[in-house]
Amino acid sequence: MTIWAAKASAAKALAMLPAPNRRAALDRLRQFVPCAGASYTSNRNTDPGPGRPAAVSRLSPAVRYRLVTEQDVVAEVLGRHSFNAAGKFIQEVCWRTYWKGWLELRPAVWRRYLAELEAARSATSGSADLAAAEAGATGIDCFDAWARELAETGYLHNHARMWFASIWIFTLRLPWTLGADFFLRHLIDADAASNTLSWRWVAGLQTAGKTYLARADNIARYTDGRFAPRGLAQEAIALTEAPVGPAGTLAPLTTPDLAAPSLLLVHHEDLNPESLFAANAPVEHVLAVSDPALLWGDAARRYAGDATADAAKRASAHFGCGSTLADALDADALLSAARAAGARQVLTPFAPVGPVADRLSALEPALATEGIALRPVRRRWDAGLWPHARRGFFAFDAEIEGHLRAEGLA
Ligand SMILES: Cc1cc2nc3c(=O)[nH]c(=O)nc-3n(C[C@H](O)[C@H](O)[C@H](O)COP(=O)(O)OP(=O)(O)OC[C@H]3O[C@@H](n4cnc5c(N)ncnc54)[C@H](O)[C@@H]3O)c2cc1C
Repeated sequence: MTIWAAKASAAKALAMLPAPNRRAALDRLRQFVPCAGASYTSNRNTDPGPGRPAAVSRLSPAVRYRLVTEQDVVAEVLGRHSFNAAGKFIQEVCWRTYWKGWLELRPAVWRRYLAELEAARSATSGSADLAAAEAGATGIDCFDAWARELAETGYLHNHARMWFASIWIFTLRLPWTLGADFFLRHLIDADAASNTLSWRWVAGLQTAGKTYLARADNIARYTDGRFAPRGLAQEAIALTEAPVGPAGTLAPLTTPDLAAPSLLLVHHEDLNPESLFAANAPVEHVLAVSDPALLWGDAARRYAGDATADAAKRASAHFGCGSTLADALDADALLSAARAAGARQVLTPFAPVGPVADRLSALEPALATEGIALRPVRRRWDAGLWPHARRGFFAFDAEIEGHLRAEGLA
């Protein structure tokens, strides 16, 4: 492929992702809904390549930042299909909920990943094999194409992510943490839970002993014959680690004071505040922050920055108050906005395990010194489903339909 053709194909692939605003995400969702039944079930494993129509929704950047929530997605789909007809698609959406819940119940696994990543970085400093993998110069046709596709478009099909991670770990024998980091630095939908736990799953750490082996015939079949990789590992022996402790419980949250003048802090972990807080909540002002230091790559930073600006506008209209956009989630920004609003509490969507949650915990004492309480609010979707992510996915899956019925969705 010429450089010009590659650039044109990357631009086309980028245009196939929903633009970073809720309107575009809802439009994409509604376009996709008719395809969420049998067509998704039969064809979702095929990766036709960048810029080509696929059976999957390509909604993940919008879902990741909650321009549309899992509940929005499932409700739209169930408006058109029965639970059984769209079961596979709903199950995939709920994989995200499962991963988020699983990590929430075991935050030490995220900290372990970060520590192992640092160690792997030191151990591979200057490694030519690592540089070749990241540059897409290994000589394995599909792997090299996906490395470039990822860097150019910020997206890879789920099956390509599985094959890529498997080749990284079992054929190239590179540390899995560096592969997970490579994904986080390039994916627009880069997410602490979905990414770390999917890489762990491929490596045989998540379901102890069960690995995912990328096979040449499977790759050729599900890429419409675009690739014929040679030299792939013929076996995938599971990585091992010290045992992961048992699942904890969700941190209890204090109920917000619905009479206290409040600042609403919107952050890129949940850009749908209008479905979380009623319009008559005592919100005096909205502070919407997308801090580049709390994401890993530029494509995600650009997307989340624009999506946060969109959320600020929506929140301002919903609560009938002013909004400020900021690019640093720090004590200065938060305290000066809270003081200016005369706020006694900061309401904010709950941030799951990851950099935003860490930053919020660090900021809480600074707010407390001025008598301002930080009040994160968890969605009913998360509060209802995350506690079921204690064991494997299939136990979790068994809870989904009941939850949807209880919520009036199924
Ligand atoms: C190694 C690896 C790393 C991954 N890293 C991320 C990541 O950083 N962020 C991320 O959002 N997803 C990640 N995924 C999951 C999945 O690949 C993407 O969510 C999916 O490719 C999104 O494409 P889509 O919107 O077209 O999916 P669709 O098939 O249309 O699915 C609809 C939605 O369901 C969710 N979803 C679907 N499959 C999965 C899955 N297996 N796990 C979790 N959620 C899922 C996504 O929100 C997606 O938008 C990873 C998967 C693997 C194997």
